[in-house]
Parts: sequence; C-alpha cells; structure tokens
Amino acid sequence: MPPEAAASRPDAKPVALITGGGTGIGRAIGAALGRDGYNLAIASRSAEHLASGAGELRGTGARVLEVPTDVRVPEQVDRLLEAVRTEYGRLDLLVNNAAGNFIAPAEKITPNGWRAVLGIVLDGTFFCSRAALPLLRQSPTPSIVNIVASYAWMAGPGTAHSAAAKAGVLALTRTLAVEWAKYGVRVNAVAPGPVRTDGTDRQLWVSDALVETVRRGIPLGRFGTVEEVAESVRFLASPRASYITGQVIAVDGGQWLGKGVMDLLETAPPPGPGPERPKSPVS
Ligand code: NAP
Repeated sequence: MPPEAAASRPDAKPVALITGGGTGIGRAIGAALGRDGYNLAIASRSAEHLASGAGELRGTGARVLEVPTDVRVPEQVDRLLEAVRTEYGRLDLLVNNAAGNFIAPAEKITPNGWRAVLGIVLDGTFFCSRAALPLLRQSPTPSIVNIVASYAWMAGPGTAHSAAAKAGVLALTRTLAVEWAKYGVRVNAVAPGPVRTDGTDRQLWVSDALVETVRRGIPLGRFGTVEEVAESVRFLASPRASYITGQVIAVDGGQWLGKGVMDLLETAPPPGPGPERPKSPVS
C-alpha cells in the first residue's frame, strides 16, 4: 500500500511514540502500553537498542516502528513524526523519555557535557512535543508524558546539568498543559526515583557503595523497578486521568521527602538520663 493510502486510513489501535523506547524505563513503558493495546513507535540513536527493544515489545502483540533518531536534531525529529504519520496515520501519546546523564561536580562539567545533557533532555522534549502536536491534535484522547526526576524541583548536587534540564522540562510540562489544553492535549510528568537499568548502572549507580548509600536514603528502603514507573505513565495516559494535566507524579519510594533523622531515632538509646556531661564553664 502506498504511504499516502496508509496515512489516509488511521490505524484502529491507539499509537504511542516513546523516545528512548529501546532500553530501560522506556522499554518497560512500551511493554505496558503494548499490553494495553497500543501500537508503538520507538526512537533513539542506536539501531541496536531499537532492534532489541522492538523484539521484546512485539511479544506484547503491538506493531512496533523503529526510527533511529537523535532528538537533539530538529530535522531528525520532524522525520520521526513523518514516519509515524506514514506508518500509523495517528498519534495518541508521546512519552519524552530519552535522556543522558553522568555524575560530576558542577565545576567539572564541560560546556560539551552540559550541552549534551540539556540538548537531549530539554531541547529533545521540546522538539518532539512541537513536532508531535499536529498528529496529537487529531487524536480523540491526546496526551504527553514527560519523564523527569525529583531534582526538577529540588537540588541535584552531582548532576547540575540534568537537574537544570529536568527543571526546564517540568516548566515546559506545566506551560504546555495550559497552552495546549485548547487542543485537548493533556501534558503530565512522571519523576522516577532511583531505578537500576543497564544505562543507569553504567552512568549513575556506578558502585555498590553508592547504591547502598542511595538505598538507605529511600523511606521504602529499596530502588524502584522499571515496571513501577511504567504503571504511572500508563495511568496518566489513560481515560482514568482524563481531568489531570500539568501534574507530576513522583514514583520514588518517598525519596524526595527525605528521611531526616529517622535512622538516628531508630538507633538512638531510649530516653532517660544520659551519660554524665562535663559542666559548662558558665554554670
Ligand atoms: P537508559 O536506559 O539509559 O535510557 C536512556 C535512553 O535515551 C536510551 O534508550 C538512549 O538510547 C536514549 N537516548 C540518549 N540520547 C539520545 C538522543 N540524543 N536521542 C534519542 N535518544 C537518546 O536509562 P533509563 O533509566 O531507562 O532512563 C529513562 C528516563 O528515566 C530518563 O529520562 C531518565 O532521566 C529518567 N530517570 C531515570 C532514573 C533511574 O534511576 N533510572 C531516575 C530518575 C529519572 P540510545 O543510546 O539508543 O540513543
């Protein structure tokens, strides 16, 4: 069938486009949506990541379109959306999940490192959202879900570039929620807490000691799973969230709330007269 004919008859199933959908959290989001009856498009730089992700995602019964794309490049993003239009003739959900990150003190982040992270996370989210709008507007239930992190509203020491980029994406989430409400497009965000994936084990959770320190700071006492993050994306995209827009859900075991002195209270000796203290010189 020529591409124009395919485009003129939109697919019967809803369609989700997931950037970074070949690996980690993006792949789990694709699997959850595929089981829900979506057809999928996944986009990232590496054809290998896309092929291995697509293999798993097809197991859910979904059709899967793989489109090698660098989301930092607007022309590639435009081609991505054109490929979605040609293949499916519709788009119902965009998940801006692609990211790059590495741990470094701010003064050691080079201009190139800064630009790379801001380019993927902030520029990429804007370029994809903007290019997706014409197709999304034709959907009966259009929405966008942006994957951020809790340092979008807190501090992100050790990841200044990513924190600044995610803060920008959160501001964009709220702004587009208002601007695009007139088109019926809902725009929300999910902020995963620490989740181990192949990618983050290479870039973030780089040692057992670090993993254990992070784990101890999480009220629920463990890292999250990719499936737990995917579940919130699935909810926000569904009719169950039809009146929710401009919001962010933290899926982080309570991490951003902090534990304060809880550990100290749990290990401190019971209240009572403590050991004799030296007398203050003024008393
Ligand atoms: P991941 O597996 O490393 O995923 C990152 C994805 O982004 C990869 O599929 C990568 O594919 C893609 N990507 C990178 N640069 C790209 C570019 N220029 N253009 C297009 N795609 C690009 O890590 P993850 O943990 O699943 O991360 C998913 C999301 O969750 C990210 O937004 C991340 O910030 C967020 N998050 C994760 C954690 C965590 O602990 N895991 C915590 C908070 C937030 P290619 O290499 O093929 O391009």
